[in-house]
Amino acid sequence: KKKAKVAAKTANKKVESAAVLGAGIMGGGIAYQSASKGIPVVMKDINTAALDLGMNEAIKILNKGVQLGKLTADKMAKVVASITPSLDYSAVQHADLVVEAVVENPKVKDTVLQEVEGVISEDAILTSNTSTISIDLLAKNLKRPEQFCGMHFFNPVHKMPLVEVIRGEKTTDETVAATVAYASAMGKSAVVVKDCPGFYVNRVLFPYFRGFSLLLKDGADFRQIDKVMAGFGWPMGPAYLLDVVGIDTAYHCVDVLAAGFPDRMSAIEGDAVEVLFKADKYGQKSGSGFYTYE
Ligand code: NAD
Repeated sequence: KKKAKVAAKTANKKVESAAVLGAGIMGGGIAYQSASKGIPVVMKDINTAALDLGMNEAIKILNKGVQLGKLTADKMAKVVASITPSLDYSAVQHADLVVEAVVENPKVKDTVLQEVEGVISEDAILTSNTSTISIDLLAKNLKRPEQFCGMHFFNPVHKMPLVEVIRGEKTTDETVAATVAYASAMGKSAVVVKDCPGFYVNRVLFPYFRGFSLLLKDGADFRQIDKVMAGFGWPMGPAYLLDVVGIDTAYHCVDVLAAGFPDRMSAIEGDAVEVLFKADKYGQKSGSGFYTYE
């Protein structure tokens, strides 16, 4: 009876305030996108440096908008003011919907999801921006798996139109509907997909990265491959894209996909992503990956 009451509340849920956990490449982008569409957001991380990075990223995008005459300085100030950086959960508890966007590690995500579930209201929606980890796996230790689903944005969030909404085994229609509505309010197009490691887009993208790794093993040069793919008309080649995504994130995704699809996505010995990861070269975020950055 209580569950039915909560479900009814969730069904009518219009997301008027949100929270994002993790202020990295994705968390910062999600916070910016929500705030810029008028939905205030709390952005929580475990360290101040990360929060500053996330805020600065939003400010950079907004400044560009002001320079291009797309928004006024006044509007920019309003957007910045509607992102609340936080190091604890106190400001998160009032959120209608939470997007977890911490590192791609099931154990860390598990802890963070349980922590936040304990502080938000019982009709709030909890989502994960995981790239590859099964939603059912993440839902296992939650008290309200019916109010949990995947909400997978793409990088850079302010430019990429798509959001995958991933329905877990126990996710209710109400939760999916409210999450899709929030994605639309953020100016994104949502596609609702079933749960499995990698969901939809990354089951297409990571086999492409795998083909790239195999080509490197055959002796190809990554710069050459990037040039060829640019000539093919794609906005960037695989090496540059992996640097943008983050080598650490890609490495963990490869791991999850190899475990999920051992017949098709098994690990490649001496894989370039693994070599870079083990050398702490995480791509653009750390200053070097396949390429080096200022
Ligand atoms: P990132 O490394 O840029 O940021 C991760 C952030 O999480 C860091 O700021 C870190 O301090 C923070 N963090 C770690 N533990 C935390 C905790 N306990 N509580 C709060 N914050 C914590 O990573 P990212 O690229 O933003 O990826 C985040 C998630 O989004 C991952 O699940 C990733 O798979 C997914 N994702 C990434 C991309 C991409 O292209 N990078 C695209 C789609 C989805």
